[in-house]
Amino acid sequence: MKSQEITKRWVDFFVSKGHTAVPSASLVSSDPSLLFTVAGMVPFIPYLTAREEPPFDRATSVQKCIRTGDIEEVGKTARHGTFFQMCGNFSFGDYFKEDAIKFAFELLTKSVDDGGYGLDVERLWVTVYEEDDEAQDLWLKNTGIPASRIQRMGKADNYWSTGQPGPAGPCSEIYYDRGPAYGAEGGPIADENRYVEIWNLVFMQYQIENVRSKVDFDIAGELPKKNIDTGLGMERLAMILQGVENMYETDQVRPVIDKAAALSGKEYTSAESADDPHHTDDVRMRVVADHIRSALMLISDGVSPSNEGRGYVLRRLIRRAVRAMRLLGVEEACLPQLLPASRDAMKGVYPVVETDFDRISRIAYAEERAFLRTIASGTARLEEAVVLSKAAGKPLSGEDAFALHDTYGFPIDLTLEMAEEAGLKVDEAEFRSLMLEQRQRAQADAKSKKGGHADVSAFQELLAEGETIFTGYTELEGEARV
Ligand code: ATP
Ligand code: MG
Ligand code: MG
Ligand code: MG
Repeated sequence: MKSQEITKRWVDFFVSKGHTAVPSASLVSSDPSLLFTVAGMVPFIPYLTAREEPPFDRATSVQKCIRTGDIEEVGKTARHGTFFQMCGNFSFGDYFKEDAIKFAFELLTKSVDDGGYGLDVERLWVTVYEEDDEAQDLWLKNTGIPASRIQRMGKADNYWSTGQPGPAGPCSEIYYDRGPAYGAEGGPIADENRYVEIWNLVFMQYQIENVRSKVDFDIAGELPKKNIDTGLGMERLAMILQGVENMYETDQVRPVIDKAAALSGKEYTSAESADDPHHTDDVRMRVVADHIRSALMLISDGVSPSNEGRGYVLRRLIRRAVRAMRLLGVEEACLPQLLPASRDAMKGVYPVVETDFDRISRIAYAEERAFLRTIASGTARLEEAVVLSKAAGKPLSGEDAFALHDTYGFPIDLTLEMAEEAGLKVDEAEFRSLMLEQRQRAQADAKSKKGGHADVSAFQELLAEGETIFTGYTELEGEARV
């Protein structure tokens, strides 16, 4: 079943259950505290928090999402994209747990001829919050899933809250067992690769207060109007229904893998295990396919490459894709080949990626060319430093990393990645303190600063990276915002 058919069935099903179909909002979140739309519920936050009166009691959507926090998982797990589509159904003070569970079970298991997805009940597992006996009973009463396939999880996994006083509540998640070839037996608690999480049902049930952390708060009482917020990963369901190994091999993503394979002359083999000699190249092709699609969708929603915020995320995605292609042996510009492949895979659902392709591609290709120039100037310098450091039996010095950044505009993530490939660590602490010094110098004497651009962008990079590999730099954030 093609992705487009999966989303059509989703909307048709929930419309038949009285939901209003709401088009996807932009990837650029309307919520100022979020860089991007990270879940289907984001556009509905004003209704879910009762700040605004919803125009409907029930809604359904297929929401474009970006999760930069998952970037390091891409290509390595079967199931994490930086861009993906979250199918959701929502109740604003209307139906609650019982119907949410019934709807989910009905749609997943209803036969394909009947408009459903035709999943085998025997393959479905469920988790519930450990104190939510009600949810467990409803699963037992309304579905063919036995207690032996229902697992209980703690607050960290199966409880939703914003970390602020307000609505919160337990979750219940649905997993699909891909079979013994994918990992150990024992349900989702044992193996998340074999048992793939496909759907999260959030029961917004309580008002919480005295919030000490996301998992430590007091329940003030039941919400006067309880809400349902659910999210199913469209690509994960597509992976199952299309019988492929991972979400990057589904119909909207795979064509770019094939293009990357053709350009590099390497065979794509679906290798999952690091023991497989094809593994590293396969991960790279999956990264390329994922990042190119995310870049296409981000530019389409109005984001341009820059050194801060959303633009930096886009810049990083394009650079990572270009880097991965280089590691596959392609040194010349390849976005002019890859981006059209992604466009053609996505235009059926998002016609704008075709009608606006001139603008989108101009932005993307210019960014690739600029990055190739940066690489050309910095690589020789880095290689020199690597050889010297190795000979001295030392990590790459923070001074070298800093010089690369400062003089060549060589991004620190690239330095870390290339050093790691050469089997070298980087003295990140020293790099960090040099960055800080530079910042302080700049502050002390703003006038004598030459361009100003380099050090500001440096701090912005750290800021944008905060969530992923640069967690160690968070203490710089406050200053970087100046
Ligand atoms: P996981 O534990 O696999 O990282 P999650 O618990 O972070 O998933 P939720 O926040 O519950 O995911 O989001 C709801 C649904 O969206 C998930 O059940 C999954 O199907 C889908 N989803 C979440 N993150 C991604 C992603 N990075 N790529 C593709 N689908 C995703
Ligand atoms: Mg996750
Ligand atoms: Mg999860
Ligand atoms: Mg989840």
